[in-house]
Parts: sequence; C-alpha cells; structure tokens
Amino acid sequence: MATIAASPNLPALTNHDVESPLTIGVLALQGDFDAHARMLNNAGAIAVLVRKSGDLSGLDGLAIPGGESTTMLRFLGRGAFIDVLREFLTTTPCFATCAGCILLACEVLNPTQRSLGLLDITVERNAYGRQIDSTILNLESELAGGPMEMVFIRAPRITRTGGSVEVLARRDECPTLVRQGHLLAATFHPEMTTDLRVAHLFLEMVRANKAALALEPCSDEGCAVRN
Ligand code: GLN
Repeated sequence: MATIAASPNLPALTNHDVESPLTIGVLALQGDFDAHARMLNNAGAIAVLVRKSGDLSGLDGLAIPGGESTTMLRFLGRGAFIDVLREFLTTTPCFATCAGCILLACEVLNPTQRSLGLLDITVERNAYGRQIDSTILNLESELAGGPMEMVFIRAPRITRTGGSVEVLARRDECPTLVRQGHLLAATFHPEMTTDLRVAHLFLEMVRANKAALALEPCSDEGCAVRN
C-alpha cells in the first residue's frame, strides 16, 4: 500500500498550538477511556472525561473509546444523552475506537444494534472471533512512518464503506482505519501502543475544523469572524 503523509492537507503543529492546546473529551461511560486520555495527553492535547451531555460544551473534539458498545449504549440511552451526542458529532470531530466505531456506524450487524448513525459504514460486531482470538498485527497503512502495530480485541469488521469514506488501513481486505470528513474510526486500539500517529492525525483534523469554524461568519451584524 502506498505510504503518504498522515494528513498532507492539514497544517503542522505551531507555537500557537503548544500555547493553546486542543481540549478533547473522552467519553467515559465504560471501556478504556483512561488509556485514550493518556494517548491524547501524550499527543499534546488536554483530555477531559465526559460522563453526561453537559460535559460536551467547550470541547474541540471527542474520543469514543473501545469497550463494550452494548453497555455504552445503555448509559447513553439515559435521558437524551444519545440525541445530544449525535447532534454534537454532526459538526464536532470524533475519533472512535472499536466499540466507539460500532457506536458511530450507520449500520451494525451481528446482531443489529442501535447506533449514532453518523459514519457511513456497516460493521459486524465480534467478526474476528472471541476474546481468545484477539491479536496484534503489524500492518501497512496510508500514514507515513511504516507498518503500524494494530491491537485487535474482539474487533468488529467493517464490511461496507460509503462513497465519502476514505480507507486509511486494512486487515486482509477489510478497512481498519477510516475517515469521513471530521470523523475518524479504527477497529484496532492505537491507545494500547506507543504509536501516536493516529492520535496526531485526529488532532490535525480537530485543528483544521477549529480553524474553519473561526473563519465562518458569525450571525451578529458587524462581526466578521468567530472568536
Ligand atoms: N466487541 C465489542 C463490542 O461489540 C468491541 C470490543 C472493543 O472495543 N475492543 O462492542
């Protein structure tokens, strides 16, 4: 597979980013949210844990960790959290790992399951087998820097991608890392390795989104840009 820069169209880290780091929420209902928070901190962001819809305000992006999607759904079903989250993620960048990828998908199989329905993919849960079939593989990706260590734990398989979905890595023929606009999802666990390339790619997406928002005209008369 051809190797390209992680994100050729996105700006590189500047002093400004170091002085005002991005604030990324990590959905902390269940799963390995601590490891995601550590990975994002190591990549230069400020990670804050999100447990209720009110925690979403002021975030530049959100990570949905791996874990158990059915359990996360149960917590999300309380009150209107799932609806608020869906609305939030229609414009806010999200990185979703494994169970998070299942939550973000438009279609979930094995068995069919409710989801946020934002990422135009079909995923089959536990498609590579049970916990005992979990594995670590070194696979090529579209990110610069050579093969990437991918940790698969009761991973879903992406069996369909929509036209607006870019495939950045595969296991056999099936996508393992995909991007659709401001959404990035992996069926493996980058937070379980020291490789920060996926985290950096996500933060670049967040930075680009933030820069685009700042240029959007605000609705107040006489106000050219948003602060
Ligand atoms: N099998 C889990 C699920 O269906 C996902 C596993 C993971 O996140 N590592 O939600």
